[in-house]
Amino acid sequence: MKLYSTLDKKIVEIVPNKEGCISMYSCGPTVYSRMHIGNIRAYIDWDILYRSFIYTGYKMNRVMNITDVGHMTSNDDFGSDFGDDKMDKQAEKEGVQPIDIANKYIDTVLEDFKRLHILAPNGEIIPDNLTYEDVENYGWTRATTYVPQMIEFIKKIIANGYTYETDQAVYFDVTLLPDYNIFTGQKLEDKEVGVRDEVEEDKGKKHPADFVLWMKRVGKYANHIMNWDSPWGNGFPGWHIECSAMSTDRLGEYFDIHTGGVDHISVHHSNERAQNIGAYGHPVVKYWIHNEWLVTKDDAKLSKSKGASDLDEIISSGFTPMDLRYFFLSVNYRVKLQFSIEALEGAKNARKSLEDKIISLKEYKDGKVLESYKERFIENINNNLNMSGCLALVNELLKSTEKPEDILATLLDWDKVFGFGWEELLNTQTNEFIYCEGDNVELDTLIKERIEAKSNKDYAKADKIRNKITDLGYTITDTPDGVKVTKI
Ligand SMILES: [Zn+2]
Repeated sequence: MKLYSTLDKKIVEIVPNKEGCISMYSCGPTVYSRMHIGNIRAYIDWDILYRSFIYTGYKMNRVMNITDVGHMTSNDDFGSDFGDDKMDKQAEKEGVQPIDIANKYIDTVLEDFKRLHILAPNGEIIPDNLTYEDVENYGWTRATTYVPQMIEFIKKIIANGYTYETDQAVYFDVTLLPDYNIFTGQKLEDKEVGVRDEVEEDKGKKHPADFVLWMKRVGKYANHIMNWDSPWGNGFPGWHIECSAMSTDRLGEYFDIHTGGVDHISVHHSNERAQNIGAYGHPVVKYWIHNEWLVTKDDAKLSKSKGASDLDEIISSGFTPMDLRYFFLSVNYRVKLQFSIEALEGAKNARKSLEDKIISLKEYKDGKVLESYKERFIENINNNLNMSGCLALVNELLKSTEKPEDILATLLDWDKVFGFGWEELLNTQTNEFIYCEGDNVELDTLIKERIEAKSNKDYAKADKIRNKITDLGYTITDTPDGVKVTKI
């Protein structure tokens, strides 16, 4: 498999430390709000990568973290350590404890992952009843569980002389690591502090790029709710230490792949790499792989503040989670992807027409996988995850003169990588009439209102609307791909 390695600045052949086995760590969600579609793109990209490794015969050892302890960021170049704690802020807003916020949004992440056919980090299909209580049995690691490991990790960095302590925090001294900026190639002195008005810097901090390993519960954070005792006083870990501590605890001090978004490169991953070298005296990660942003029409990163939708909003606009999956999958992870409703509409139509063709093959059973096509499919995967090439091959195969049962068997085999759930689609497909949007204005309105009521958790209203839909002569069923309306 060839992938783009950010450190090598080119596409390289992935050679794992242990033959036939890939250890992979993915930076996961920060759980103080619902994921938006910009976040979702990364998880779909890495799901495809994970499935591709499995498909091409690798054993996988994968971990994804969940940041559930105060995560302070700002918009400057360094991700200032003294910004507002988003978890605390949201807890205050909702009138609950920060851990309740974390648990609540872990559940929404699981719900979204499930609907998007994203596999759990341990490779299992996410069960319907999985909640925050059991995520750690499925390959996720919660930062709050790993605070003791983080403290041990910081002790190692201190013992190796890379740190200093102020009244407020323990810092990593980046000037002691000559290649700290290896990712960006920037000179340390060229960086400037992006101090926002509300950010108070620690007077004892030596270099603007130095970052917090342990924040003491003093000053601005005297009332920080989540806190732990440590050799440096009561407080809480800096953001970056969690990924170093969890990845090495679970995958060892040499592992193969670390994934994240390109926005992680200059701060989070530079700091993580620095911590790893600080603790072990050598780099830990063999390949850093990053996905590009989802952007607006003006090429700006799509974020919550720029009005990025969450999955429920996408569904309310008439799309299914698989439309979104198709949209992200059809473009390489290294390409900036412009989001618009029209573009998603295009993906929806392409997916639908593909699905119709597959459904038309439903009766052809017991075919065999066409090896020559499979070889070309794997060539595309191995070529830096060329998914558009894989989709082109799907269309080529559908137009071919191969036996229909073999075409179907091959497509179902490929869906192990795509993850559209075609097998399930065929099993649930009935020949009954399925309602299409636009056929009945009154019904369209009711369907939209019911989706809205459900997303507002107003189930009584949703049930009432369902009765009205029945009165019109239709049944409405909730499926993992959205609602399905059929004529009674
Ligand atoms: Zn991370």
